Amino acid sequence: MNNFVIGIESTAHTFGVGLCTVDGKIIEDFSSHFVPEKGGIHPREASEHHTKIASNILKKALEMVNELNGKIIGIGFSQGPGLGPCLRVGATIARAIASYLNVPLYGVHHGVAHIEIGKKLSNARDPLVVLVSGGHTVITALEEGRYRIFGETLDISLGNLIDMFMREAGYPSPAGALCEKLAKESNEITDLPYIVKGTDLSFSGILTAAVRKLRNGTSIKVLCRSIQEVSFSMLTEVTERALVHTGKNEILLVGGVAANKRLKEMLRIMAQDHNASFHTIDKWNGDNGAMIAWVTALLLQFGSPLDVNKSFVKPLWRLDEVDIPWKG
Ligand code: AMP
Ligand code: MG
Repeated sequence: MNNFVIGIESTAHTFGVGLCTVDGKIIEDFSSHFVPEKGGIHPREASEHHTKIASNILKKALEMVNELNGKIIGIGFSQGPGLGPCLRVGATIARAIASYLNVPLYGVHHGVAHIEIGKKLSNARDPLVVLVSGGHTVITALEEGRYRIFGETLDISLGNLIDMFMREAGYPSPAGALCEKLAKESNEITDLPYIVKGTDLSFSGILTAAVRKLRNGTSIKVLCRSIQEVSFSMLTEVTERALVHTGKNEILLVGGVAANKRLKEMLRIMAQDHNASFHTIDKWNGDNGAMIAWVTALLLQFGSPLDVNKSFVKPLWRLDEVDIPWKG
């Protein structure tokens, strides 16, 4: 009989249930994404989507456990950071299953999950990690039991910059893939503010300037290309500085924005200049349940369970506040 853990993701637009054997040999994801008709992700609307879809998704995961003659021995959920109403859907379901099955409950940090699934699926061992998603833009590495942050955004995330700009142009979120496609259709670049402060980044000035240029008639294709070139160059610069500072010889790119080919190209070229290897993953870069299940399996082995009565969600949980009980 296979011993499984279940991981529930519900920080923002995705409701996902992941399955993982405790040794990480079988790993699967059942996810559903909330797509707003227009505009950004409204927390209440997204949480309603999660509530509606949850039983269906959960059923698929439980059926798979049955088919594989498995047994569930632990439940994890994204405890934060994220949108409060969305986080509470996942937390409530996780608590209910943990109590019903009488198995331990684990709180997973969403950013740690993006990183750990990246490490598992790429062959990076001790990388400098670039985590770029809707919620995070950080350059980090595991040092003495915590993900230490060597650089991060001072305002909005890179994913938000792209999505908020695209929204101004009339495209619903997430629109990173569309931005990448439009960027490829332009050879021209227009000036946008390049803001690096030490090892930190600021993207809000780019957004303001790009929106102003859009309203003044600059083509969306030129603006998509320019936003990518400027913001990705900024990110590559601070990653290079962190690489030299930490002396690491691997770079791992994870999170939803890691799907972008131009970003991968820039980081790969910079890594080569420093004789470092570049790693990323194709599957499970966007939000999913599998990454939560995998960290639940790690926590089952190395961490401690949560007391159900104290399993509150943490919408503002920082990556560098999380104790990491495993090495490498
Ligand atoms: P996550 O929160 O990890 O699911 O990441 C979602 C973010 O990734 C959103 O801001 C998307 O717009 C962004 N994203 C997805 N695909 C791409 C892409 N090809 N280029 C840039 N950003 C992307
Ligand atoms: Mg994410």
